[in-house]
Amino acid sequence: MPPHAPGLDNPVEPPPEDEKYDVGIIGLGPAGVTAACELVRYGYSVVAIEKETIGGLIHYARAVDNFPGIPPRSPGKVVVDMLWQHMGGFPPKVVNAEVTGIYTTGAGYEISVGESAIIVKSIILATGTIPDRLGVPGEDLPWVHHIWTDVDVGEDALVAVIGGGDVAADQALSLNENGKQILMMLKSGVPRCNLVLQSEMEVMEDFIIASGIDVLRFEDRNGHIVIFSDGENENRMPVDAVLVSIGRSPSLPPLNDQPLSIRKAIFMSSEGLFVAGDIVNERRRQVAIAMGSGLSAAMRCDEYFRRIRECKE
Ligand SMILES: Cc1cc2nc3c(=O)[nH]c(=O)nc-3n(C[C@H](O)[C@H](O)[C@H](O)COP(=O)(O)OP(=O)(O)OC[C@H]3O[C@@H](n4cnc5c(N)ncnc54)[C@H](O)[C@@H]3O)c2cc1C
Repeated sequence: MPPHAPGLDNPVEPPPEDEKYDVGIIGLGPAGVTAACELVRYGYSVVAIEKETIGGLIHYARAVDNFPGIPPRSPGKVVVDMLWQHMGGFPPKVVNAEVTGIYTTGAGYEISVGESAIIVKSIILATGTIPDRLGVPGEDLPWVHHIWTDVDVGEDALVAVIGGGDVAADQALSLNENGKQILMMLKSGVPRCNLVLQSEMEVMEDFIIASGIDVLRFEDRNGHIVIFSDGENENRMPVDAVLVSIGRSPSLPPLNDQPLSIRKAIFMSSEGLFVAGDIVNERRRQVAIAMGSGLSAAMRCDEYFRRIRECKE
Protein backbone atom coordinates (compact mmCIF):
# COMPACT_ATOMS: atom_id res chain seq x y z
CA MET A 1 0.00 0.00 0.00
CA PRO A 2 1.40 3.48 -0.82
CA PRO A 3 2.68 5.30 2.30
CA HIS A 4 0.16 8.14 2.11
CA ALA A 5 -2.87 6.08 1.28
CA PRO A 6 -5.93 8.31 1.46
CA GLY A 7 -8.88 6.83 3.28
CA LEU A 8 -11.01 7.66 6.29
CA ASP A 9 -7.97 7.60 8.56
CA ASN A 10 -5.92 9.83 6.36
CA PRO A 11 -8.21 12.30 4.61
CA VAL A 12 -7.09 14.45 1.71
CA GLU A 13 -8.55 17.94 1.61
CA PRO A 14 -10.64 18.96 -1.39
CA PRO A 15 -8.58 21.04 -3.85
CA PRO A 16 -9.12 24.82 -4.06
CA GLU A 17 -12.00 25.86 -6.28
CA ASP A 18 -9.88 27.16 -9.13
CA GLU A 19 -8.24 23.78 -9.81
CA LYS A 20 -9.45 22.34 -13.09
CA TYR A 21 -9.08 18.83 -14.45
CA ASP A 22 -9.83 17.04 -17.69
CA VAL A 23 -11.73 14.24 -15.96
CA GLY A 24 -13.44 13.77 -12.59
CA ILE A 25 -13.88 10.17 -11.50
CA ILE A 26 -16.55 9.80 -8.80
CA GLY A 27 -16.08 6.66 -6.71
CA LEU A 28 -12.85 4.69 -6.34
CA GLY A 29 -14.09 1.11 -6.26
CA PRO A 30 -12.67 -1.33 -8.83
CA ALA A 31 -14.42 0.49 -11.72
CA GLY A 32 -13.30 3.99 -10.70
CA VAL A 33 -9.69 3.00 -9.99
CA THR A 34 -9.39 1.24 -13.36
CA ALA A 35 -10.89 4.21 -15.22
CA ALA A 36 -8.79 6.78 -13.34
CA CYS A 37 -5.49 4.97 -13.92
CA GLU A 38 -6.18 4.43 -17.62
CA LEU A 39 -6.87 8.12 -18.17
CA VAL A 40 -3.75 9.14 -16.20
CA ARG A 41 -1.85 6.69 -18.37
CA TYR A 42 -3.17 8.45 -21.50
CA GLY A 43 -1.89 11.78 -20.14
CA TYR A 44 -5.12 13.42 -18.94
CA SER A 45 -5.31 15.37 -15.69
CA VAL A 46 -7.60 13.31 -13.45
CA VAL A 47 -9.19 14.02 -10.08
CA ALA A 48 -10.76 11.03 -8.32
CA ILE A 49 -13.21 11.59 -5.47
CA GLU A 50 -13.99 8.85 -2.94
CA LYS A 51 -16.19 9.29 0.14
CA GLU A 52 -15.00 6.21 2.06
CA THR A 53 -11.94 4.09 1.32
CA ILE A 54 -10.42 3.07 -1.96
CA GLY A 55 -11.55 -0.37 -3.15
CA GLY A 56 -15.33 -0.10 -2.72
CA LEU A 57 -17.45 -3.17 -1.97
CA ILE A 58 -14.80 -5.77 -2.69
CA HIS A 59 -13.35 -4.89 0.76
CA TYR A 60 -16.13 -7.05 2.24
CA ALA A 61 -15.70 -10.15 0.07
CA ARG A 62 -14.91 -13.27 2.07
CA ALA A 63 -13.29 -15.38 -0.64
CA VAL A 64 -12.84 -14.23 -4.23
CA ASP A 65 -12.72 -17.19 -6.59
CA ASN A 66 -13.43 -15.52 -9.90
CA PHE A 67 -10.67 -12.96 -10.33
CA PRO A 68 -7.89 -14.36 -12.52
CA GLY A 69 -4.42 -13.54 -11.26
CA ILE A 70 -5.00 -14.13 -7.55
CA PRO A 71 -5.13 -17.49 -5.75
CA PRO A 72 -8.64 -18.94 -5.24
CA ARG A 73 -10.28 -18.11 -1.90
CA SER A 74 -8.33 -14.85 -1.54
CA PRO A 75 -10.13 -12.32 0.65
CA GLY A 76 -11.39 -9.20 -1.14
CA LYS A 77 -8.66 -7.16 0.55
CA VAL A 78 -6.15 -8.85 -1.82
CA VAL A 79 -7.96 -7.21 -4.73
CA VAL A 80 -7.95 -3.90 -2.83
CA ASP A 81 -4.15 -4.15 -2.44
CA MET A 82 -3.83 -4.74 -6.18
CA LEU A 83 -5.91 -1.63 -6.86
CA TRP A 84 -3.61 0.37 -4.58
CA GLN A 85 -0.56 -0.91 -6.39
CA HIS A 86 -2.07 0.00 -9.73
CA MET A 87 -2.84 3.51 -8.49
CA GLY A 88 0.80 3.86 -7.42
CA GLY A 89 1.80 3.45 -11.08
CA PHE A 90 -0.73 5.88 -12.53
CA PRO A 91 -1.76 8.17 -9.65
CA PRO A 92 -4.71 10.54 -10.10
CA LYS A 93 -5.26 13.42 -7.69
CA VAL A 94 -7.35 11.81 -4.92
CA VAL A 95 -9.90 13.73 -2.87
CA ASN A 96 -11.49 12.03 0.13
CA ALA A 97 -14.97 13.56 0.22
CA GLU A 98 -18.58 12.84 -0.69
CA VAL A 99 -19.86 14.25 -3.95
CA THR A 100 -23.19 15.88 -3.16
CA GLY A 101 -24.07 17.14 -6.62
CA ILE A 102 -23.01 17.64 -10.22
CA TYR A 103 -23.75 20.77 -12.26
CA THR A 104 -23.41 21.33 -16.00
CA THR A 105 -21.41 24.46 -16.86
CA GLY A 106 -21.56 24.51 -20.66
CA ALA A 107 -17.84 23.71 -20.90
CA GLY A 108 -18.08 20.64 -18.67
CA TYR A 109 -19.13 20.08 -15.07
CA GLU A 110 -18.78 21.42 -11.57
CA ILE A 111 -18.62 18.70 -8.91
CA SER A 112 -19.78 19.72 -5.41
CA VAL A 113 -17.83 18.34 -2.47
CA GLY A 114 -18.91 19.99 0.77
CA GLU A 115 -18.34 23.73 0.45
CA SER A 116 -15.95 23.29 -2.49
CA ALA A 117 -16.45 22.75 -6.20
CA ILE A 118 -14.14 20.91 -8.58
CA ILE A 119 -14.20 21.93 -12.23
CA VAL A 120 -13.84 19.19 -14.85
CA LYS A 121 -14.46 18.79 -18.57
CA SER A 122 -15.77 15.25 -18.30
CA ILE A 123 -17.03 12.86 -15.61
CA ILE A 124 -16.96 9.11 -15.05
CA LEU A 125 -19.58 8.07 -12.52
CA ALA A 126 -18.39 4.91 -10.76
CA THR A 127 -20.40 5.29 -7.58
CA GLY A 128 -21.61 1.70 -7.36
CA THR A 129 -24.76 0.78 -5.48
CA ILE A 130 -26.57 1.35 -2.21
CA PRO A 131 -28.51 -1.32 -0.30
CA ASP A 132 -32.24 -1.66 -0.88
CA ARG A 133 -34.37 -1.30 2.23
CA LEU A 134 -37.29 -3.36 3.44
CA GLY A 135 -39.16 -0.17 4.34
CA VAL A 136 -40.50 -1.57 7.61
CA PRO A 137 -40.61 0.09 11.07
CA GLY A 138 -37.45 -0.34 13.14
CA GLU A 139 -35.11 -0.71 10.16
CA ASP A 140 -32.87 2.07 11.51
CA LEU A 141 -32.40 0.48 14.95
CA PRO A 142 -28.70 0.15 15.89
CA TRP A 143 -28.46 -3.65 15.47
CA VAL A 144 -30.08 -3.68 12.03
CA HIS A 145 -27.36 -3.47 9.34
CA HIS A 146 -27.50 -3.24 5.56
CA ILE A 147 -23.89 -4.34 5.00
CA TRP A 148 -21.86 -6.13 7.65
CA THR A 149 -18.62 -4.28 8.42
CA ASP A 150 -16.57 -4.87 11.57
CA VAL A 151 -19.51 -4.96 13.99
CA ASP A 152 -18.78 -6.91 17.18
CA VAL A 153 -21.83 -8.83 18.41
CA GLY A 154 -19.89 -11.45 20.35
CA GLU A 155 -19.28 -15.18 19.84
CA ASP A 156 -22.36 -17.40 19.44
CA ALA A 157 -24.56 -14.42 18.62
CA LEU A 158 -27.65 -15.20 16.57
CA VAL A 159 -27.71 -13.07 13.42
CA ALA A 160 -30.77 -12.99 11.18
CA VAL A 161 -29.84 -12.49 7.53
CA ILE A 162 -32.77 -11.28 5.48
CA GLY A 163 -32.25 -12.08 1.80
CA GLY A 164 -30.53 -14.88 -0.08
CA GLY A 165 -28.58 -13.30 -2.94
CA ASP A 166 -24.80 -13.47 -3.41
CA VAL A 167 -24.01 -10.62 -0.99
CA ALA A 168 -26.37 -11.99 1.71
CA ALA A 169 -24.92 -15.50 1.35
CA ASP A 170 -21.29 -14.33 1.31
CA GLN A 171 -21.75 -12.22 4.43
CA ALA A 172 -23.79 -14.95 6.19
CA LEU A 173 -21.05 -17.51 5.52
CA SER A 174 -18.40 -15.10 6.74
CA LEU A 175 -20.33 -14.49 9.99
CA ASN A 176 -20.93 -18.21 10.43
CA GLU A 177 -17.22 -18.96 9.96
CA ASN A 178 -16.60 -16.42 12.71
CA GLY A 179 -18.75 -18.32 15.20
CA LYS A 180 -22.14 -16.70 14.68
CA GLN A 181 -25.38 -18.66 14.39
CA ILE A 182 -27.24 -17.74 11.23
CA LEU A 183 -30.95 -17.65 10.55
CA MET A 184 -31.41 -16.79 6.88
CA MET A 185 -34.95 -15.54 6.30
CA LEU A 186 -36.36 -15.68 2.78
CA LYS A 187 -39.65 -14.40 1.51
CA SER A 188 -40.06 -17.38 -0.77
CA GLY A 189 -38.26 -20.35 -2.28
CA VAL A 190 -34.57 -21.12 -2.02
CA PRO A 191 -31.62 -18.68 -1.87
CA ARG A 192 -30.96 -17.15 -5.29
CA CYS A 193 -27.19 -16.88 -4.73
CA ASN A 194 -24.79 -18.77 -7.01
CA LEU A 195 -24.46 -22.55 -6.71
CA VAL A 196 -21.05 -22.42 -5.01
CA LEU A 197 -22.42 -20.32 -2.15
CA GLN A 198 -25.56 -22.49 -1.99
CA SER A 199 -23.58 -25.70 -1.56
CA GLU A 200 -21.32 -24.06 1.05
CA MET A 201 -24.36 -22.96 3.07
CA GLU A 202 -25.83 -26.48 2.97
CA VAL A 203 -22.93 -27.97 4.94
CA MET A 204 -22.51 -25.24 7.56
CA GLU A 205 -23.45 -25.90 11.18
CA ASP A 206 -25.67 -23.45 13.06
CA PHE A 207 -26.98 -22.19 9.72
CA ILE A 208 -30.74 -22.36 9.23
CA ILE A 209 -32.58 -21.25 6.10
CA ALA A 210 -36.26 -20.45 6.59
CA SER A 211 -38.54 -19.44 3.72
CA GLY A 212 -42.04 -18.05 3.44
CA ILE A 213 -41.23 -15.23 5.89
CA ASP A 214 -42.42 -11.68 5.38
CA VAL A 215 -40.72 -9.32 7.82
CA LEU A 216 -43.18 -6.80 9.22
CA ARG A 217 -41.09 -4.78 11.70
CA PHE A 218 -38.18 -4.76 14.13
CA GLU A 219 -38.47 -3.79 17.78
CA ASP A 220 -35.84 -3.18 20.44
CA ARG A 221 -36.68 -5.17 23.59
CA ASN A 222 -34.11 -4.49 26.34
CA GLY A 223 -31.19 -4.32 23.92
CA HIS A 224 -32.35 -7.30 21.86
CA ILE A 225 -33.88 -7.05 18.43
CA VAL A 226 -37.20 -8.80 17.96
CA ILE A 227 -38.22 -9.55 14.38
CA PHE A 228 -41.97 -9.61 13.81
CA SER A 229 -42.83 -11.55 10.70
CA ASP A 230 -45.81 -12.90 8.89
CA GLY A 231 -45.67 -16.50 7.72
CA GLU A 232 -48.01 -19.35 8.32
CA ASN A 233 -48.40 -17.82 11.78
CA GLU A 234 -47.34 -14.42 13.06
CA ASN A 235 -43.90 -14.94 14.47
CA ARG A 236 -41.68 -13.11 16.95
CA MET A 237 -38.01 -13.98 16.81
CA PRO A 238 -35.48 -12.44 19.23
CA VAL A 239 -32.01 -12.19 17.69
CA ASP A 240 -28.76 -10.38 18.52
CA ALA A 241 -28.42 -8.57 15.20
CA VAL A 242 -29.96 -8.37 11.75
CA LEU A 243 -28.42 -8.04 8.30
CA VAL A 244 -30.90 -6.83 5.68
CA SER A 245 -29.44 -7.74 2.28
CA ILE A 246 -32.28 -7.87 -0.22
CA GLY A 247 -30.58 -6.26 -3.22
CA ARG A 248 -28.77 -3.09 -4.22
CA SER A 249 -29.66 -0.17 -6.48
CA PRO A 250 -27.52 2.37 -8.38
CA SER A 251 -26.16 5.25 -6.31
CA LEU A 252 -26.21 8.49 -8.28
CA PRO A 253 -25.56 12.05 -7.11
CA PRO A 254 -28.11 14.64 -8.27
CA LEU A 255 -27.53 16.52 -11.53
CA ASN A 256 -28.37 20.26 -11.50
CA ASP A 257 -30.23 19.66 -8.21
CA GLN A 258 -32.53 17.09 -9.84
CA PRO A 259 -32.42 13.33 -9.22
CA LEU A 260 -30.31 11.62 -11.90
CA SER A 261 -31.55 8.25 -13.13
CA ILE A 262 -29.19 5.61 -14.48
CA ARG A 263 -31.19 5.67 -17.72
CA LYS A 264 -30.51 9.39 -18.19
CA ALA A 265 -26.86 9.04 -17.17
CA ILE A 266 -26.26 6.33 -19.80
CA PHE A 267 -27.47 8.72 -22.50
CA MET A 268 -25.14 11.54 -21.45
CA SER A 269 -21.96 10.18 -23.06
CA SER A 270 -22.23 12.73 -25.90
CA GLU A 271 -22.07 15.40 -23.17
CA GLY A 272 -18.93 13.89 -21.64
CA LEU A 273 -20.55 11.97 -18.78
CA PHE A 274 -19.90 8.23 -18.60
CA VAL A 275 -20.99 5.48 -16.20
CA ALA A 276 -18.95 2.48 -15.12
CA GLY A 277 -19.18 -0.58 -12.89
CA ASP A 278 -21.99 -1.93 -10.72
CA ILE A 279 -23.94 1.28 -11.16
CA VAL A 280 -24.78 0.14 -14.68
CA ASN A 281 -24.49 -3.67 -14.39
CA GLU A 282 -27.82 -4.59 -12.91
CA ARG A 283 -27.52 -8.36 -13.02
CA ARG A 284 -23.80 -9.05 -13.24
CA ARG A 285 -22.13 -7.28 -10.36
CA GLN A 286 -18.65 -8.76 -10.20
CA VAL A 287 -15.27 -7.15 -9.71
CA ALA A 288 -13.73 -8.20 -13.06
CA ILE A 289 -16.81 -6.92 -14.90
CA ALA A 290 -16.66 -3.62 -12.99
CA MET A 291 -13.00 -3.20 -13.93
CA GLY A 292 -13.73 -3.98 -17.60
CA SER A 293 -16.53 -1.47 -17.49
CA GLY A 294 -14.16 1.13 -15.95
CA LEU A 295 -11.63 0.52 -18.70
CA SER A 296 -14.31 0.80 -21.36
CA ALA A 297 -15.57 4.09 -19.86
CA ALA A 298 -12.02 5.49 -19.85
CA MET A 299 -11.57 4.58 -23.52
CA ARG A 300 -14.91 6.13 -24.44
CA CYS A 301 -13.93 9.26 -22.52
CA ASP A 302 -10.63 9.41 -24.46
CA GLU A 303 -12.57 9.08 -27.75
CA TYR A 304 -14.83 11.95 -26.60
CA PHE A 305 -11.79 14.23 -26.11
CA ARG A 306 -10.29 13.14 -29.43
CA ARG A 307 -13.53 14.02 -31.24
CA ILE A 308 -13.52 17.48 -29.62
CA ARG A 309 -9.89 18.01 -30.68
CA GLU A 310 -10.67 16.89 -34.24
CA CYS A 311 -13.60 19.33 -34.46
CA LYS A 312 -11.32 22.20 -33.39
CA GLU A 313 -8.64 21.38 -35.98
C1 LIG B 1 -19.95 -9.13 0.46
C2 LIG B 1 -19.56 -9.00 -1.00
C3 LIG B 1 -18.86 -10.04 -1.60
C4 LIG B 1 -18.49 -9.95 -2.94
N1 LIG B 1 -17.79 -10.98 -3.51
C5 LIG B 1 -17.38 -10.89 -4.78
C6 LIG B 1 -16.60 -11.93 -5.38
O1 LIG B 1 -16.28 -12.94 -4.73
N2 LIG B 1 -16.24 -11.80 -6.68
C7 LIG B 1 -16.57 -10.70 -7.43
O2 LIG B 1 -16.19 -10.63 -8.59
N3 LIG B 1 -17.30 -9.69 -6.89
C8 LIG B 1 -17.72 -9.76 -5.59
N4 LIG B 1 -18.47 -8.74 -5.05
C9 LIG B 1 -18.93 -7.66 -5.93
C10 LIG B 1 -17.85 -6.57 -6.15
O3 LIG B 1 -17.38 -6.14 -4.90
C11 LIG B 1 -18.47 -5.42 -6.94
O4 LIG B 1 -18.98 -5.93 -8.16
C12 LIG B 1 -17.44 -4.33 -7.23
O5 LIG B 1 -16.87 -3.83 -6.04
C13 LIG B 1 -18.13 -3.18 -7.98
O6 LIG B 1 -17.19 -2.18 -8.22
P1 LIG B 1 -17.65 -0.67 -8.49
O7 LIG B 1 -16.38 0.11 -8.58
O8 LIG B 1 -18.58 -0.62 -9.64
O9 LIG B 1 -18.52 -0.22 -7.22
P2 LIG B 1 -18.18 -0.19 -5.69
O10 LIG B 1 -17.22 -1.24 -5.33
O11 LIG B 1 -19.50 -0.17 -5.00
O12 LIG B 1 -17.45 1.22 -5.48
C14 LIG B 1 -18.14 2.44 -5.56
C15 LIG B 1 -17.37 3.48 -4.77
O13 LIG B 1 -17.98 4.76 -4.96
C16 LIG B 1 -17.97 5.45 -3.72
N5 LIG B 1 -19.02 6.45 -3.76
C17 LIG B 1 -20.36 6.22 -3.88
N6 LIG B 1 -21.04 7.38 -3.89
C18 LIG B 1 -20.10 8.37 -3.76
C19 LIG B 1 -20.19 9.79 -3.69
N7 LIG B 1 -21.37 10.44 -3.77
N8 LIG B 1 -19.05 10.50 -3.53
C20 LIG B 1 -17.84 9.87 -3.47
N9 LIG B 1 -17.71 8.52 -3.53
C21 LIG B 1 -18.82 7.79 -3.68
C22 LIG B 1 -18.20 4.36 -2.69
O14 LIG B 1 -17.77 4.76 -1.40
C23 LIG B 1 -17.40 3.20 -3.25
O15 LIG B 1 -16.07 3.17 -2.76
C24 LIG B 1 -18.83 -8.79 -3.71
C25 LIG B 1 -19.54 -7.75 -3.09
C26 LIG B 1 -19.90 -7.85 -1.75
C27 LIG B 1 -20.66 -6.72 -1.10
